[in-house]
Amino acid sequence: MTSLTVTLPIGVAVLERGWLSSNNVVLSGAPGEPTTLVDSGYCTHGPQTVALVRRHLAGRRLHTVINTHLHSDHCGGNALLQSAFGARVAIPPGEAEAATQWDMSRLSYEATGQRCERFKVDKVVAPGDVFDIAGRYWQVLAAPGHDPHSIMLFSPEEQLLISADALWQNGFGVVFPEIEGETAFREVRATLDLIAALDSTVVIPGHGSPFRDVEAALERAYRRLESFEASPDKHGWYAGKALAKFHLLEVQQEPLDEMLRWLADTPYFQLIHTRYFRGINYASWSQRIIEELQKSRAVTVSNGVVFNT
Ligand SMILES: [Zn+2]
Repeated sequence: MTSLTVTLPIGVAVLERGWLSSNNVVLSGAPGEPTTLVDSGYCTHGPQTVALVRRHLAGRRLHTVINTHLHSDHCGGNALLQSAFGARVAIPPGEAEAATQWDMSRLSYEATGQRCERFKVDKVVAPGDVFDIAGRYWQVLAAPGHDPHSIMLFSPEEQLLISADALWQNGFGVVFPEIEGETAFREVRATLDLIAALDSTVVIPGHGSPFRDVEAALERAYRRLESFEASPDKHGWYAGKALAKFHLLEVQQEPLDEMLRWLADTPYFQLIHTRYFRGINYASWSQRIIEELQKSRAVTVSNGVVFNT
């Protein structure tokens, strides 16, 4: 699935990051006009995000940071960007109150064992809103499924979609509400149907390179969704492995017994276990997550230490 480099329209640039930090999309105005950044990466990459954005701005002003959703890998650079550039932060409405109050019981960071530095919410950007950057219109679209509050941004003129974690070139993000016991595969499908109806020619995903073959990506996403609907425990494994891998991306290496303790103590793993794997002993199940990650070469284990690869 190699993708040829996609040429993006003038005024749109992707600072491609990886899996710990989401991509940062820069929507630039004309010289001298303010610039908007979509998503800000994970907190431990914050200084790198500020440096990358500063270099890209080349003297222009960063006016606004829009978050597609409030997962730690999409808004972890907000606080630093606010202090470095005085940028205003705009977030989707669903978690505006929780983020304004920094209510840890309603934000996902403690439950997932992830971190996010507190930032100030300046504005809400809601589905149905339209905004204009340098004469180009962007529509705000609701994209529930991976996260019930997520939004995407679409430029009809360029047929360009910023899809966050609703559609990647090869799949989509963990369907978090499903882990919490709510049915959300239906929302994933509705969001994929919405993307299909947009007829985008280019997608900028939350992770990975921008890509053109949207139809093939949708096909893969629908197939993955069907396999989750048919056997929800496949989604359980996907969620467990993805969150464990994310942890290793952050810490890079960790003694095996410490990682097993982390897996035992982190609330989201307890939820995944209860929802999908109640019949398996918790310790063997967490051990198996690490074994599965080893099999797919996402981690290695050597001398009692787990390494990110
Ligand atoms: Zn996400």
